[in-house]
Amino acid sequence: MKMSKLFVQTLRENPSDAEVISHKLLVRAGYIRKLTSGVYNYLPLMWRVLKKIERITREEMDRAGAQELLMPFVQPKELWEESGRWDVYGAELMRLKDRHDRDMCLGPTHEEIITSIAREGLKSYKQLPVNLYQIQSKFRDEIRPRFGLLRGREFIMKDAYSFATSEKELMDEYENMAKTYKRIFERCGLETKMVQSDSGAIGGKISHEFMVITDTDAGENDVFYCDSCDYAANSNHAISNLPDAIVDGGFKQAEIIDTPNTHSIEELSKFLNIPSSVILKAILYIADSKPVLALIRADRQIEETKLMNAVCANEIRIATAGEIEEIMKEHGFNAIAGFIGPKGLTDMPVIADNTVKDMKNFVVGINQTDKHLVGANLSDLPKIEQYYDIRLCEAGDFCPQCGKPLKVTRGIEVGNIFQLGTKYSEPMNAVYTDIDGKNKPFIMGCYGIGISRTAAAAIEAHHDEHGIIWPVAIAPYHVIIVPVNIKDETQMQVAQSLYETLQNAGIEVVLDDRDERAGVKFKDADLIGFPYRITVGKSINEGLVEFKIRNLEETIKIEPSQAISILEEKIKELI
Ligand code: ATP
Ligand code: MG
Repeated sequence: MKMSKLFVQTLRENPSDAEVISHKLLVRAGYIRKLTSGVYNYLPLMWRVLKKIERITREEMDRAGAQELLMPFVQPKELWEESGRWDVYGAELMRLKDRHDRDMCLGPTHEEIITSIAREGLKSYKQLPVNLYQIQSKFRDEIRPRFGLLRGREFIMKDAYSFATSEKELMDEYENMAKTYKRIFERCGLETKMVQSDSGAIGGKISHEFMVITDTDAGENDVFYCDSCDYAANSNHAISNLPDAIVDGGFKQAEIIDTPNTHSIEELSKFLNIPSSVILKAILYIADSKPVLALIRADRQIEETKLMNAVCANEIRIATAGEIEEIMKEHGFNAIAGFIGPKGLTDMPVIADNTVKDMKNFVVGINQTDKHLVGANLSDLPKIEQYYDIRLCEAGDFCPQCGKPLKVTRGIEVGNIFQLGTKYSEPMNAVYTDIDGKNKPFIMGCYGIGISRTAAAAIEAHHDEHGIIWPVAIAPYHVIIVPVNIKDETQMQVAQSLYETLQNAGIEVVLDDRDERAGVKFKDADLIGFPYRITVGKSINEGLVEFKIRNLEETIKIEPSQAISILEEKIKELI
């Protein structure tokens, strides 16, 4: 490809709506163009990258024994009603009507469709296990599309679904996929961590995410991990053992005292001169539009996904100040945030964290503004029926597997594998005939990779102040040839001949034939992120070209033929 013909426009300025580096670079280097919020055109350079990630994914999925198919992007409501998800999926599901007033949706994921395919096509245990996959656009009407391709509304996903006759068969395929994912990301030049995770809207019991570790804002997940063993989990699922803390407030007797203006835990613990670990924190949440009270030792935070699972809700958020006052009034109290407690709120679910269990002579709100009960004990509160783990881990907590301190880092989720069990096959009556002649529901797994997110995550992990540093396997082109002066006949001749030789060797090469200053061409080459650059300048008079690897500072002077053999050597396993 000649640079003069390449459909690319590089920009000097970062786009104003870009917060993270991959978004900035993808726009500035001419890979993507926004169509509307969370929806992007993949321009030719981008499409080459995406096709490479797709190709690696496809090769590894095929090698693992999965079979590719393609399902429709538009889906009918009826199947979603069968699974029960039409009513619970929420606003992320993009719903629409056709001209006959029939409800449809844009596929955010394809469990319903694939389950309907399996129930038609897989009748006998003899056909199982099977793993079917596709690579396709998905649409999720994300509440906050941001970060360019990392969190779009329309994005490309590889989604696979397995059907088995037993938990063992499911487990084997799950492990097969875990290994396959590791290989896919390795081949893409990406280091990933496999972490335990919550199963979210997809459902099921066990799931793991593949995270690209990053210390930037682009990592939307906190990952807790242990250096001494293999424990690693998303914060929404991580568990830990706690370091010692003072849990006895030491108050001699229970009494209500004035605690003016103590709206926060910090203010209250300062006012009473006590550690926050002897305050019982009560927080009002709205779970699927109903109030829920969460209790936790106040030196610790609530993990909202765990709380949401504990109350079996689909959506959860902290109640606003206005809602708190209103709910208090409904219960005959006059209290604002900061003074809430479980007493008298018996008609709503109270979810207490395990940390509450050991508290003694503690401090708790009593639903009266500017007052607290000190020296309280659990017997002073409405009976807590059951304790849960709804606590957010913290770095330094102890590993649940080996007891060593946990560390925390940020990660970008690029893949996710789930053991679904019969979550879809049962309600959708997707059964096969087993060896004993009985009809049984498929035992399912599902496995996703964000193809477009993976491309952006690769940039988050590999860039510098000049631009993108693509891992060679997913770079749009392998090498750029830059003649310094296109008017110099020798330079152009050598450049042209190198270009043809490399092309014939199957190496993907761009010749920068533009009549621009060398500095401008180098800038563009670095921004776009070609892994290798061959510069043909004055030293060609001594028979030498400059060879540069994108992520190394130095250039070496070598003969053109040497440059060719180095590139052939480096790239041969990729083509
Ligand atoms: P997230 O928690 O980041 O919203 P998810 O867990 O809902 O993602 P899955 O249902 O597990 O996503 O989808 C499989 C894969 O698809 C994810 O691992 C991710 O790589 C990708 N993906 C999901 N949502 C998006 C999005 N909005 N934009 C780009 N890629 C996405
Ligand atoms: Mg996920």
